[in-house]
Amino acid sequence: MRPVFCAFLALVASTSGVSAAGRVTLILQFDGRHSELSIDEMKRELENIMRGSGTELSWRNAEDISSSESFPSVVVVTFHGSCEMRPFAPPLPIEDAPLGYSHISNGEILPFADVECDRIRSELRSGHGAIGPGDDRLLGRALGRVLAHELHHIMDRTLTHEHSGLFRKSLSPQDLIADRTL
Ligand SMILES: [Zn+2]
Repeated sequence: MRPVFCAFLALVASTSGVSAAGRVTLILQFDGRHSELSIDEMKRELENIMRGSGTELSWRNAEDISSSESFPSVVVVTFHGSCEMRPFAPPLPIEDAPLGYSHISNGEILPFADVECDRIRSELRSGHGAIGPGDDRLLGRALGRVLAHELHHIMDRTLTHEHSGLFRKSLSPQDLIADRTL
């Protein structure tokens, strides 16, 4: 099991928080490649996890948003690296790098989440056959679970982790893609 699943970055900026109930707009931005299949599966997984929570998610890509738009409750999600399973790159060196992180300022959780696609792909590769080349569907499931974890911190405004389930501090590759509800 990985020693680090999630981390917090301290920022000096301040902004308003996000309510756990009601509609939340997730604005997605990518600094690398991604497949539509992996992102569609991520959305499906996250919506399944949050079903019954009272939160209704809507999704937007950052590049499609005009400057005149505003959203009452928003989280900006930035994906780093390549969010697709081709090429089937070898695992990265094992290190205590987080798969996702949230940001805090003066003890307040900010509505920004970051997801490390290269790190997640590497984790799944190291999981002894957990994932194969081009399996963007399983990658998307893992992305959805990592993002659900970070949104839990942001929407519930908590830095704490639980002892079981998806909101533990560390999750194994199987936890990220297994056919079950965590
Ligand atoms: Zn966490």
